[in-house]
Amino acid sequence: MSPDNAKKSQLRAVPERDAETPALPFDRAPAAAPPPDAAPACPSCYGTGYEVVAGRGARRCRCREQNTQTKLVDAARIPRRYDNCNMQSFYPAPNNGSQLKAFNYAFRLVREYPAAERGLLLMGPCGVGKTHLAVAILRGLVEKGVVSLFCEFGSLLKEIQDSYNPISKTSEMRVLAPVYQAEVLVLDELGASKPTDWVRDTMMQIIGTRYNDRKLTIFTTNYLDARRQATDETLEDRVGVRLRSRLFEMCKTVHVDGDDYRRRYDAQQNQP
Ligand SMILES: [Zn+2]
Repeated sequence: MSPDNAKKSQLRAVPERDAETPALPFDRAPAAAPPPDAAPACPSCYGTGYEVVAGRGARRCRCREQNTQTKLVDAARIPRRYDNCNMQSFYPAPNNGSQLKAFNYAFRLVREYPAAERGLLLMGPCGVGKTHLAVAILRGLVEKGVVSLFCEFGSLLKEIQDSYNPISKTSEMRVLAPVYQAEVLVLDELGASKPTDWVRDTMMQIIGTRYNDRKLTIFTTNYLDARRQATDETLEDRVGVRLRSRLFEMCKTVHVDGDDYRRRYDAQQNQP
């Protein structure tokens, strides 16, 4: 077929739907066989996904854009317990400069993406809103149409380990594909897993792949760079020197602290 003919064949009239004609991808007629909970066919496109603009042709219908949005939200796999975490629901504690600063970094990243070159490493004790901010960033980016993914690092490592089990029938690649493909990834609780050689190698592989692909990653960690007490473990102790220095290249380190947390922490320490 010559290129001319190929072009013509794309412009042929669309045949009537009948038993002999295989359905076009967008013509699978959700209106004809809607799932029980589906909304009635869209009045603009009658469920075809394309609306006709008089005198000009057809274009993708707005209802399909909403579907895309819903799919992106689902694909981000944000755990239900973070349903209420977004930018609007983040309230920096009064007089807590670090929380306000962290919020500003998060907000700016969403606004500037895809121009943002580095991700964030949100570092600080439990309960200061690191994961809240990371989730808020993902939601903001999903609204911009960015393919995003939330991963709790420990669960991800467990899933990879399970994939070696011949009965589980998920391959390592199937677990990792979305992690590599997501434009923006949140890795929550970096360093929380017991740092065996395997854990370190796997973390390095995942993070190194995203680094090489120049994809943005946002990390949260409860481990700090400095020790408050001699017995404290640092992030470097948990993830190794190589990975810590890779994180410096990939991310802006943002310290988040919480007065409440510290008070609670001190109270615990002072208990008999
Ligand atoms: Zn429509």
